[in-house]
Formats: sequence, structure tokens, C-alpha cells
Amino acid sequence: MADDVEPPVCLDRDTSDCRGVVEYRTALSATGKSFPRCDKHWEERLVRDEEIRARYPEQAPPDFDPTYAGERWDEDY
Ligand SMILES: [Zn+2]
Repeated sequence: MADDVEPPVCLDRDTSDCRGVVEYRTALSATGKSFPRCDKHWEERLVRDEEIRARYPEQAPPDFDPTYAGERWDEDY
């Protein structure tokens, strides 16, 4: 009879008002982790993710110089 499963609480509840259902959403990154977010904050999260991807394309631009600033483009692979 006891039901001690807590309903998930949106991770972003402190940043702005939540809206919609709070569910565990699987992150887009390869970690495979999932985090509870409401409909509204999950939507915002997806938009932010697209913006980040647009700014940092996966392919190195043709004029990318790997020696510049000592960074390597594919360091994380
Ligand atoms: Zn929320």
C-alpha cells in the first residue's frame, strides 16, 4: 500500500516557473543519464543544445589550424 516513490522534481525549477509534466528526459549527450525536467524547461534545454551545436560544428572548419592556441579539435574522441 505504501507508495514512497517521490515524483520527479524539475532540475530547473529555481530558474523560472515550470510548466507541464515533469519527467525523466534522457540527455542528448553520450552519458546516457536522464534528468527530471518539466515540459517547458526540457523544451528550452533542447533549443539551447541546438544553439550550441550550431556554434560548434562537429567538423573542423577548413581554415582550422590545430596548432593555434595549442588546441586539438578532436581531443574528446
Ligand atoms: Zn521546470
